[in-house]
Amino acid sequence: MKSANEKFCRECGSLISVRAEICPKCGVRQMDPNTSISVTKDGTLWLPVPSMILGMMMFLTFFDDSGWDSDTIIGCAFFAILGLVLGIVSVSTQRKGKGMAVTGILLSTLSLIALLGLFVAQG
Ligand SMILES: [Zn+2]
Repeated sequence: MKSANEKFCRECGSLISVRAEICPKCGVRQMDPNTSISVTKDGTLWLPVPSMILGMMMFLTFFDDSGWDSDTIIGCAFFAILGLVLGIVSVSTQRKGKGMAVTGILLSTLSLIALLGLFVAQG
């Protein structure tokens, strides 16, 4: 019989403690939908997602051959730096969205290098 402080393992079906994070029988982590603590502990998507979007925006801007004056370059550099900072903060503080944050960092860095090249070329 299943008592109040016991539950069935989601993997092997063994009767285990409700508070068990990992099944002692099969070693599978229990992801109870009622425990939202782990979700908030993982971190937020508000760091990696904007980082990736900013990085992608800046990267795609280079396929647009509209005129590059120094104001445009400085404006884009600002967004690229923002994307870079958000990505770095995300990677260093949380695991959630790490792939997106890394993408954001890479694209922002590439964009910054390209912007620097454009800025130098402008004289
Ligand atoms: Zn199990």
